[in-house]
Amino acid sequence: MILSKERTAIVKFGKKMLAAGLTTGSGGNLSCYNREKNLIAITPSGIEYPDMTPGDILVVSPDGTVVDGTNSPSSETGFHLALYSTRRDISSVVHTHSTYATTFACLNREIPAVHYLVGFAGNKVPLAPYATFGTQELADAITGSIKDYNAVLLANHGLVAVGPTLLKAFNTAEEIELVARLCFQAESIGTPVILSDQEMERVITKFAHYGPKESANET
Ligand code: 13P
Ligand code: ZN
Repeated sequence: MILSKERTAIVKFGKKMLAAGLTTGSGGNLSCYNREKNLIAITPSGIEYPDMTPGDILVVSPDGTVVDGTNSPSSETGFHLALYSTRRDISSVVHTHSTYATTFACLNREIPAVHYLVGFAGNKVPLAPYATFGTQELADAITGSIKDYNAVLLANHGLVAVGPTLLKAFNTAEEIELVARLCFQAESIGTPVILSDQEMERVITKFAHYGPKESANET
């Protein structure tokens, strides 16, 4: 099976996404770009995560042509591919409908630096304007708004996190959900103190050296 490692990892992180409460049903999608082979593994459209197996994952080329797999690729394949062509530093995309992040998205509000963990995304989580799911307009809104950030809210829809590996993109989606929840809770009893851009720069620099050394084999 081509891209077997990537397909297996996508199934694993899809199940983690559901277990962590970051999505429901078949909501959200995940992909992984093998830049050496110039092929992308991506979740199928509308299949629930508990039922998903590596054979269900599609392999597509950067222009969206299906190279392997019998299911329909995610309806959001367009924005995954657009992100890979505009962000040379990333090889994984995780899209969720996590509750607290999506609450901010429904208010069409960015998430400010209420907690240093927002540094997983940058000095805030920016917001992409609303566009219908699965459209070129949504892909354009996302690539136009994410800039150098590692996550972006999709107005009235959800969150997209990107990273060099699926693990990093998944961790970003999970930590941003926590920050969104903290912001929601803090605002419900008071006015949260927002960390300065200068402090967030320090945090982001420290994050670059935080955690175990990466293995060359990581997906
Ligand atoms: P797919 O099942 O087609 O990936 O769609 C889920 C989704 O989140 C659409 O935005
Ligand atoms: Zn979605």
